Amino acid sequence: MDKKILESIKSILSSKKKIILIPHSSPDADALGSCLALFHFFKDKHEVNVISPNEFTQILNFLPSSDKVLVYESNREESDVLFQEAEIIFTLDFNSLGRAKNVSYKISKSTATIIMIDHHENPSDFATYMISNSEMSSTSEMIYDFITFLNPDKIDNDIATCLYTGIVADTGSFRFPSTTSKTLLVGSKLIDYGVDVTYIFENLHNNFQFDRLKLLGTTINNFKKVGDLPILYTMLTDEDQKSSNFKKGDSEGFVNFGLSVEGILCSVLFIEKKEEELIKISFRSKGDFKVNIFASKYFNGGGHIYAAGGISKLSLKETEEKFIKDIRQYLKENYD
Ligand code: 5GP
Ligand code: MN
Repeated sequence: MDKKILESIKSILSSKKKIILIPHSSPDADALGSCLALFHFFKDKHEVNVISPNEFTQILNFLPSSDKVLVYESNREESDVLFQEAEIIFTLDFNSLGRAKNVSYKISKSTATIIMIDHHENPSDFATYMISNSEMSSTSEMIYDFITFLNPDKIDNDIATCLYTGIVADTGSFRFPSTTSKTLLVGSKLIDYGVDVTYIFENLHNNFQFDRLKLLGTTINNFKKVGDLPILYTMLTDEDQKSSNFKKGDSEGFVNFGLSVEGILCSVLFIEKKEEELIKISFRSKGDFKVNIFASKYFNGGGHIYAAGGISKLSLKETEEKFIKDIRQYLKENYD
């Protein structure tokens, strides 16, 4: 991290400030873990609030103080006052304002100092201070470094739990290529702060309803191969979701199963979102296959090299046809 930027931020934080912490919309464990870790770090000295653009999965309710997160969608008035008064806004785990959806406008209109901490590629230039490093496993690992610079003595079990959760979620429990020896060192330090590794694992991965297990079965059953290409894709219709009482976060991780097949380099999940009138797409890959470029070129999305997302406004059937055409084209242009 750039020492000059860190020193400037340290000096701004030397007196009491009104701070807002913002994750990307539909925050995952890394985004919300980063926000809540900083919330615990700042709460004694500053006036600090976490504002999530929209609801988050109830899986994350075990994170310390998750009940204090304000959801913008359902607490608009209270949040607007906080935005009005904010002196510092941290944007965590996203690289472009659009990822904050309905609070993007509040951030861009704010007179507060904006501090971005993020690990996605190609960040846009919207922050006063940008701490961005796409080689980091997770934003939570970056928050660990940030907090360690400011005051390592303040790390307690709550902070460590939030950060450890974010790191294990974004690294697939220290398995993805973004995991470095330093990521493991940070994990090790966090365990020294008293993190209960099994408690976090149980809450993240073994805390679902039976309906969700059946939905995983449907997703796996629906997998198809694109010709003789090393690509698998699957879909969840609106009907599939309704019949399993689908809740936010229920399909998290489903797309990864495609990559468990020998020789497969890319796996894709299409989820029909009837109410939003769009298809949400998740891409995962390995080896030379860069899904973030594909997602941004053809499906208005982006993300990391091996984990990206995008959207389609076409029907599920049309999206499937477009995907097959686009992926063939992409392979021809890039890998032939
Ligand atoms: P997921 O498939 O878990 O929803 O998303 C995987 C990764 O892709 C996320 O960590 C995020 O970096 C990125 N991502 C997901 N959806 C979008 C999107 O609509 N736009 C962009 N730019 N990135 C996305
Ligand atoms: Mn992340």
